Amino acid sequence: MKDPKDSKARLDALRADIERRNPAQPEFHQAVREVLETLAPVFAARPEYAVAGLVERLCEPERQIIFRVPWTDDHGHVQVNRGYRVEFNSALGPYKGGLRFHPSVDIGVVKFLGFEQIFKNALTGLGIGGGKGGSDFDPRGRSDAEVMRFCQSFMTELQRHIGEHTDVPAGDIGVGGREIGYLFGQYRRITNRWEAGVLTGKGRGWGGSAIRPEATGYGAVLFAAEMLKLKGIGLEGRTAVVSGSGNVAIYTIEKLHKLGAHPLTCSDSQGYVLDEKGIDIELLKQIKEVERGRVSDYAARRGGSARYVPGGRVWEVAAEVAFPSATQNELDVQDARALIANGVKAVSEGANMPTTPEAVRILQEAGVAFGPGKAANAGGVAVSALEMSQNAARVSWTAERVEQELAGIMRDIHAVCHETAERYGAPGDYVTGANIAGFERVADAMLAQGII
Ligand code: NDP
Repeated sequence: MKDPKDSKARLDALRADIERRNPAQPEFHQAVREVLETLAPVFAARPEYAVAGLVERLCEPERQIIFRVPWTDDHGHVQVNRGYRVEFNSALGPYKGGLRFHPSVDIGVVKFLGFEQIFKNALTGLGIGGGKGGSDFDPRGRSDAEVMRFCQSFMTELQRHIGEHTDVPAGDIGVGGREIGYLFGQYRRITNRWEAGVLTGKGRGWGGSAIRPEATGYGAVLFAAEMLKLKGIGLEGRTAVVSGSGNVAIYTIEKLHKLGAHPLTCSDSQGYVLDEKGIDIELLKQIKEVERGRVSDYAARRGGSARYVPGGRVWEVAAEVAFPSATQNELDVQDARALIANGVKAVSEGANMPTTPEAVRILQEAGVAFGPGKAANAGGVAVSALEMSQNAARVSWTAERVEQELAGIMRDIHAVCHETAERYGAPGDYVTGANIAGFERVADAMLAQGII
């Protein structure tokens, strides 16, 4: 299959088959399409990948678990949610990937996230497979006691399927330190094991790693800095737009400040804040992490420099660097055109698949350096893997050490994506570079391990 056209025809047929066999899962289709579209040159150059139904196996999860999660709310009413864990690929290590609690979660969303995770985790070089999970439970507006009862019920089933050598969940949207604590407590209670490496994102005092809360956001900024460096530009003094106001957004904003840039925005699903003086990170943390409030509260408390725009999108604000850090498909063609018109130089995806495929194409054609989530937000899972290493050795590294490791990993991921894109004739195309570099690592391991 030397001719790339043959490879493309075969991948197109495979894609059609995947869409037929996985109906009503648009996010999963989108994630698969985006990867398959970039793989044709690899198949042309390395025919060994064309054998053994390799890509067919890669696109089919090794295991998918769906379960009932009953719990009792504060009024004594029984609520029933649905739980998911998709154990997608373990060729490189135990399944690894977060849990998302959000009403939009269904099997297609979990599969898209799990599929992305395979390549992202491979890019870290740290020996972790790909998985993802979650529930359609909405923690917003729920009391701590309700969240605890939900997490306990969720873990009562999930614990059968996970373990430090099997599957290691972490946080994602709606799952932060509070939820990981309740989940870990229930795991420990049921199994009667102190198995720290079964979950990552734990509290610092009981097995968590320094810098894990910061890692995804910090990593996305470091990735942007690497992309800009190749353009001969520094981050210092640059204006930035950031969407979201959760874990990833907060630490993206914090790192931008540390590197002398000016993060102007944050948002939630109801609107955004533009702060001409730059987002006050301590106020944002207080409102979001301590009070669990909204970004509208930030604008109300910040005073003159901040304006709340209900229903608006941060992409209309002029800035030189953009960090989509909320959720999938939050940056579309219109947003991309607005960013380009305002002179954006780089987009670094803190969230998973936040930019629609058309928007990615438009940004790349305009010469904007575009860092896909698989590469740009891999810092979170990388530090999770470092948390697993610390747990296995029963040691706790200093924040300085973890931050240094993170910086090195983000530099390496940037380099491998950049080099791979060049090697396959797509210089500057980090999407192609990330997909192919991740694919080669997983594919080599799958080939070596036989048809399983
Ligand atoms: P959080 O729950 O901490 O924050 C999510 C933020 O995004 C909130 O501001 C939320 O606003 C907003 N948001 C969520 N859903 C929507 C939506 N449908 N429309 C508009 N805004 C929305 O999650 P994280 O910060 O952890 O995750 C953000 C993104 O980063 C996700 O794509 C996640 O998969 C990805 N990611 C996270 C990693 C991590 O380590 N946490 C690692 C790698 C990727 P609201 O409160 O109004 O819902």
